[in-house]
Amino acid sequence: MSGSAVWHPFTQHATEPVPPTIIRTEGAYVETREGKRILDAISSWWVITHGHRHPKIVEAIRHATETLDQVIFAGLSHEPAEQLAEALVDLAPAGLDWVFYSDSGSTSVEVALKMALGFHRNNGAPRSRIVVMEHSYHGDTIGTMSVGARGVFNAAYEPLLFEVDTIPFPAAGLGQEALDAFERLAHGRKVAAFIVEPLVLGAGGMLMYPGSILAELKRIAERTETLFIADEVMTGWGRTGTMFACEQAGIAPDILCTSKGLTGGSLPLAATLATDAIFRAHYSTDRARTFFHSSSYTANPIACAAALANIGVWNDEPVAERVASLSRMQAQMIARFSKDARFDNLRTIGTIAALDLRVANAGYLAEVGPKLRAFFLDRELLVRPLGNVIYLLPPYCVTSNELERLYAAIDEAADLASDIR
Ligand code: PLP
Repeated sequence: MSGSAVWHPFTQHATEPVPPTIIRTEGAYVETREGKRILDAISSWWVITHGHRHPKIVEAIRHATETLDQVIFAGLSHEPAEQLAEALVDLAPAGLDWVFYSDSGSTSVEVALKMALGFHRNNGAPRSRIVVMEHSYHGDTIGTMSVGARGVFNAAYEPLLFEVDTIPFPAAGLGQEALDAFERLAHGRKVAAFIVEPLVLGAGGMLMYPGSILAELKRIAERTETLFIADEVMTGWGRTGTMFACEQAGIAPDILCTSKGLTGGSLPLAATLATDAIFRAHYSTDRARTFFHSSSYTANPIACAAALANIGVWNDEPVAERVASLSRMQAQMIARFSKDARFDNLRTIGTIAALDLRVANAGYLAEVGPKLRAFFLDRELLVRPLGNVIYLLPPYCVTSNELERLYAAIDEAADLASDIR
């Protein structure tokens, strides 16, 4: 026991070391009390896009606090939320005309699921079945765990999780199988919604699949009047090479969830965007058809101001070029392992690169996971493998020298697994 009262997330306090205390963040780095500068190669759980404490976002936050703090968002509105909603509608795939705010990726998904059920019920044809993709992750609340992969993380809560139908992950060669499964379910069951992480399943192991499959899934959803929910919580804001991953499949979902990079990673905020048809299904003189959802900090003005500043950075700085350049560097640098027998399944999409370390016991609880994490931290690198899956998801300000350091460390780290291969 460290004397701290903090219970950390996804942390086994009995086996993990006392975490370093961070006293400052800047660019691609987080700095400890002891003066270590740790290169944040996972963008602090995938939230930081441009870099920590982008000056324009920091300034916008400071400025917003001079006039506003939290304001109840039922019955009142404010400029930062109004302006941000307009900007999001402009940025998002066509047809997503309504913006509902919440405060985390999980809540944005909960909102999406509730909107989907409300839509069907208010239209007089209730549907409640949700179809999900194998290995998905959508959050850690009861609802989002229900639509995510079942496993060690949620075994204890299983009795509370609702049943869903699952289609196989469309791994190479299995695309048609996934499509056929969705077709069968969507025709047979009157499905309320299909929820999916577009192009890459993050926490499930950085599993990537082609846009053509995503586009076909969308077509099946359309044909069967199944609402299509794109969970872009991780993939949004340039991570996969385009602003939203759906763009690469040329699709516009019925509902889109965004959080993490929405504020550039500076403050917690989320938005669930929906079509006019979904809004209309809740628009009525009958108050029972209201969309009954809120949380105290909905549309926090300071977070909205940060998100507006983030969009300003996208507009005023060459962010798309930075994303393209980082994407190229990732693809080039990971290629050094293409013939390396210690690794398997090298893959990149946009700014994300991942590879599997060959070990006897793969999976999230692979014993090599904590060893790798400690190895990287010793070298002042923040890399947090998903079991034996090592991935780099850095902020867009990372330099080629910094990436070189990371790949050199991965090369060295692979030998750690030699005793368990
Ligand atoms: N959806 C996806 C695709 C995610 O990757 C995550 C978090 O990693 C979430 C939802 C949940 O977001 P949050 O942790 O902000 O609740």
